[in-house]
Amino acid sequence: MISKAEKLLKAHQLRKTETRLDVLELFLHKKTALAQRDIEEELGEVDRITLYRTLRSFENKGLIHRAIDGSEKLRFALCKHECNPDEGHFDEHAHFHCYECKQTMCLDQIHTPAVKVPTGYKIQSTHLVLKGICENCST
Ligand SMILES: [Zn+2]
Ligand SMILES: [Zn+2]
Ligand SMILES: [Zn+2]
Repeated sequence: MISKAEKLLKAHQLRKTETRLDVLELFLHKKTALAQRDIEEELGEVDRITLYRTLRSFENKGLIHRAIDGSEKLRFALCKHECNPDEGHFDEHAHFHCYECKQTMCLDQIHTPAVKVPTGYKIQSTHLVLKGICENCST
């Protein structure tokens, strides 16, 4: 039987390796965005260079995107949209950072607003970062 992770790798033109499968499984099971450090902690023995490259190739192929949360920590989250290696990313949603659990998550239902900029300016990316207390921490 082919796992969801294997299918995803194939759909995004990535060869199957053990590290790629492990990392992808982790993203599939976590509801929050993950920094490289978090993944190292979860997976235990993993080569840092290999992991770094895995994250970069996942990002390039449209499997994961940067969950910009205004902190200096670079976090990634699984793409839920039709991101693909040819057209790139379509993750135009807000990211929420919780002050309580210090986690960052995608709020897919909140779309990044279209903003009007003065003549001469050209927007290439927009990030909507929301901070506060998340669902888990407020109950
Ligand atoms: Zn994406
Ligand atoms: Zn929280
Ligand atoms: Zn996201």
